[in-house]
Amino acid sequence: MYQFNEARTTELLKRLVETPSPSGFTEKVMKVISDEFTNIGVTYKRTNKGAIIATVKGKDDSRHRLLTAHTDTLGAMVKEIKSNGRLKLAMIGGFNWNAVEGEYCHIHTASGKEVRGTILMHQTTVHVYRNSGTAERNADNIEVRIDEKVKNAAETKALGIEVGDFVSFDPRFEVTPSGFIKSRHLDDKASTALLVDLVRSVTENGIELPNTTHFYISNNEEIGYGGNSNITPETVEYIAVDMGQ
Ligand SMILES: [Zn+2]
Repeated sequence: MYQFNEARTTELLKRLVETPSPSGFTEKVMKVISDEFTNIGVTYKRTNKGAIIATVKGKDDSRHRLLTAHTDTLGAMVKEIKSNGRLKLAMIGGFNWNAVEGEYCHIHTASGKEVRGTILMHQTTVHVYRNSGTAERNADNIEVRIDEKVKNAAETKALGIEVGDFVSFDPRFEVTPSGFIKSRHLDDKASTALLVDLVRSVTENGIELPNTTHFYISNNEEIGYGGNSNITPETVEYIAVDMGQ
């Protein structure tokens, strides 16, 4: 029988949420997954789009089951470097700007450098902008203030920051004394951690599943297609494990 290992799953979840992975920037987080599957000793393959499918052979190998979760998260991309050195953003995935106002972030440069910043309204202070509370939270008013001494676009570019760089939001992982786990990226890394632990438990304990079962860890759900390719024709049951609020 499957034994849920809370400590092991929580540790993996922490590692997953602390590995930035907005859709399109998922190489590092998928390396965490492939390392886990290698360590478990389960057979897996990489799809051309970067997803990973682990397969556990079951009693009935003619009718397959598939479970899927995703590792990519919401995030943003640098849309413009403003003349004051701050950044305008484009969304990756769908959310409201007010959900990230005040959030700390990383800007990931093409060379692999990470620069810290804060996502703010341009009209931050009530003393200067009387409409700061009511101004619309949109791509024009939201900007990133970089935690470096930059006063113009040239100084920002000198840090290696360019249009098209990925921006990830801080995960704020926390296990409360009452046992709740909080993080911005529980969608869908909580499900991913559970599925990986399920594969580990089944493999370690030599459990024979009734059907050959695929564990499909997708890296592109937030931008629309998720686990909808590379499904074997033998698959007759498919469950997507994902989050609501
Ligand atoms: Zn999701």
